[in-house]
Amino acid sequence: MKKYVMALDQGTTSSRCILFDKQGNIRAKAQKEYTQIYPKPGWVEHDPKEIWSSQYGVMAEAMALLSEEERIEAIGITNQRETTIVWEKATGEPIYNAIVWQCRRTAEQIDRMKEEDPELCSYITEKTGLIPDAYFSASKIAWILDHVEGARQRAEKGELLFGTVDTWLIYNLTKGNVHVTDYTNASRTMLFDIHGLTWDKKILDYFRIPEEMLPQVKPSSCVYGHANLGSLGENIPIAGAAGDQQAALFGQCAFDKGDVKNTYGTGCFLLMNTGTQAVQSKEGLLTTIAAGRAGDDNLSGDVEYALEGSVFVAGAAVQWLRDGIEMIEKAPQTQQLCESVPDTKGVYLVPAFAGLGAPYWNPHARGMMVGITGGCKKEHFVRATLESIAYQTDDVIRAMEQDAKLSLSQVKVDGGASANDFLMQFQADILGSKVMRPKCIETTALGAAYLAGLAVGYWKDKQEIKENWQLEREFHPAMDAKESETRRKGWKKAVRTAIFWAQEEE
Ligand code: ADP
Repeated sequence: MKKYVMALDQGTTSSRCILFDKQGNIRAKAQKEYTQIYPKPGWVEHDPKEIWSSQYGVMAEAMALLSEEERIEAIGITNQRETTIVWEKATGEPIYNAIVWQCRRTAEQIDRMKEEDPELCSYITEKTGLIPDAYFSASKIAWILDHVEGARQRAEKGELLFGTVDTWLIYNLTKGNVHVTDYTNASRTMLFDIHGLTWDKKILDYFRIPEEMLPQVKPSSCVYGHANLGSLGENIPIAGAAGDQQAALFGQCAFDKGDVKNTYGTGCFLLMNTGTQAVQSKEGLLTTIAAGRAGDDNLSGDVEYALEGSVFVAGAAVQWLRDGIEMIEKAPQTQQLCESVPDTKGVYLVPAFAGLGAPYWNPHARGMMVGITGGCKKEHFVRATLESIAYQTDDVIRAMEQDAKLSLSQVKVDGGASANDFLMQFQADILGSKVMRPKCIETTALGAAYLAGLAVGYWKDKQEIKENWQLEREFHPAMDAKESETRRKGWKKAVRTAIFWAQEEE
């Protein structure tokens, strides 16, 4: 009998299901987009029922591709992080739509907190590893309790439950029997003490969130419960859960201290494994719990940590070239355009379309192109855009190295824009370290599958999993170190110019 591990990848725009075999090959795959709800500018919601139904639908679709002799050994979950759902304990009915991580409805409340209570903000950063923001679940839960009639009292009476999307899926898969989350998802709520591994009473008090409504927090790799899926299968262990970025770090087999992965999507998401040490950043990065556990092969030691940084505009700049200023027709075309010129002729593009993230943290900065001369052609413009993705990544990685006092030797990459060979080579040149692109770029789903498979013995240990990681292509730094340094200096100057331009006039 052939056996597979099922990964449920519940993302911001679609629900996916992928069945992996022991070698990490994909046996079956199904995906469904679902509705984005925008009640007001800056507000984003999902229907929790549709999250569940779309996820259930793709599970059925993927399972239908199996034959009689094939079985599912375990289920692993990975999910959009921070998205907040509150439902009735008695019925499992949500009392409000899911408030999506991107939703800015509580931004003012967080701004006020920063102004009125800087001490609490420092406390939050120290305990949760996060820089207070409306992205995280805490203020979203409080918003639901404040705005749905009677919710606060009902929560206090123990009638309501909160969960991130992993919790919601496990709850539904077990027909309401299990109310849990994993360390990685808990570490994105802004309510969880990542050092003491408990919900933090002081922060709960500030947001007036009763602890009874919170899920029990468990390791990312353990059996949470069993799913009875009727004709889809009986008693399947749900054995892994991790937030999407942490799952990708695990799926990339970035198990060792100093290992870094970068996902080149609309934005870039970078995570560095810092082992059992929770590094508090001085460079504006977040500290978070990684999916693996120290100790290890049975994943039973203490938790491991990661530093996280993101670039807001990465692939989005390529989309802008295509749809905004219509300079290209398709994203892959940029590779040939970039390679057709030896450099940008001194042009830099800073895609600060919505401010700058780590390590600059300037919400006012706006996009800028500098260094244009009469010889600047479309190719140089496009190249400057692609190069900006590599420079921004370089900025975050150098901040990570500084914080963790580690120097990295390689970066593992995935995401749509990692397919661009020019970008990957330029990245290696600017970083001065190797860029490794794996064959399987479904690293998020694969990470969830690995976590579940390890818990049930489908894979013996991390070593066995590591053997699955196959290199598709490796990019070595080829640029002279001095040249790379000069170009990085130029980039820094361009960033300073963009920040200067955004300053208020005296
Ligand atoms: P997301 O998960 O954020 O939607 P994906 O991982 O699917 O992103 O990657 C899509 C992004 O990558 C888009 O912004 C697109 O512009 C960019 N992209 C896709 N292919 C290429 C390519 N060959 N070169 C450069 N950018 C690309």
